[in-house]
Amino acid sequence: MLFDTTHLQSLQTPCYLYDTELLARTLDAIHAETQQHDNYHVHYAIKANANPDVLRQIAAAGFGADCVSGGEIRAALDAGFPASEIAFAGVGKADWEIKLALKASIGMFNVESIEELDVIEQLATELNMRARVSFRINPDVGAHTHAHITTGRAEDKFGIAKDDMIAVLRRAMDMTHIDVIGLHFHIGSQLLVMDDFAALCVRINELQDVLDAEGIALHNINVGGGLGIDYDQPDVHPVPDFHAYFSTFTDGLQLRPGQQLHFELGRAVVAQMGTLLTRVLYVKHGHEQQFVIVDAGMTELIRPALYGALHQIDNLSAAERGASAAVAPTPILYDVVGPICESSDVFARDYALPPTLRGDLLAIRSAGAYGETMASTYNCRPLPAAHLI
Ligand SMILES: *Cc1c(COP(=O)(O)O)cnc(C)c1O
Repeated sequence: MLFDTTHLQSLQTPCYLYDTELLARTLDAIHAETQQHDNYHVHYAIKANANPDVLRQIAAAGFGADCVSGGEIRAALDAGFPASEIAFAGVGKADWEIKLALKASIGMFNVESIEELDVIEQLATELNMRARVSFRINPDVGAHTHAHITTGRAEDKFGIAKDDMIAVLRRAMDMTHIDVIGLHFHIGSQLLVMDDFAALCVRINELQDVLDAEGIALHNINVGGGLGIDYDQPDVHPVPDFHAYFSTFTDGLQLRPGQQLHFELGRAVVAQMGTLLTRVLYVKHGHEQQFVIVDAGMTELIRPALYGALHQIDNLSAAERGASAAVAPTPILYDVVGPICESSDVFARDYALPPTLRGDLLAIRSAGAYGETMASTYNCRPLPAAHLI
């Protein structure tokens, strides 16, 4: 990614920068892998990045949306996603959110419990509308990722136990305002091992055999999202390996005739196009450690504090100084920390950067997913601005 620091100097930091060209390339790469399958549907998971400009670009490229709240459904509709291509997931849908979704005539509810199904039936009956539902089944496959972002093991709070699947389907098929359309799965996030998705395919095939034996035919299979990105080398892998991802499902799933396959990718679509731009406030020389104290913190990007995530950090100003220097300066190990009053407000420890000065602009990379959307006003800080580049 090329940064013109003269232009960036004028920006108020911290702020997000979104590379719309890289987003376009990423969307093209997804199209290239899916367009030969007219039964493949890709929904973008709004919670990864709900910036209105980003949403409009993704909607205009023909994607559907995956929402986990009423607010996200509104954001998706405002950005131009067709209601029929909106899926609504989440373990705790409030009544107002369910009504909003019914009135907007969204494509499908991904239902996570029998208790929720009963409420949707009741609200749909009151409104005299029909709800299209898929059931989120917990496939009990472990995902090799951080414990906080695995969702498909038996002990996780998400979905319906696979042994309860038939009973729940039968109950729903007896309801008057429910159309049962499919099964939904989502096993976790930041998954880079395709074997996890292959294991999900095996489990789905087993469940489809059970459905056949019961004489139940379903229109949709939704395999969720979760494809990871390369946080270590964003410049080497700016676009995720969508070929490996989609071909895992093409090869692994035994879809029934006419069955539609839905995907819900979030992070893989938007992570690499985003950068958190921050300015160095102080370089503090401690006894044991040197600290680069920046004006961004866990309020703008919480992933390091929440998941122990490490984002690549580039010192853009030092790179410019280095370009005019005869010999490249020796890097120094710094702890790069934010200003928030929490010891977990650390972007990186012992991180090698060129000699860094007060006022330098740093780029915290791969911050397009679960960055701006998770920002908070803790410490009465303003929410960060976002600029398209
Ligand atoms: C968060 C979420 C996604 C997207 O996950 P990514 O890891 O960002 O691809 C998809 N489906 C559901 C149900 C989700 O909750």
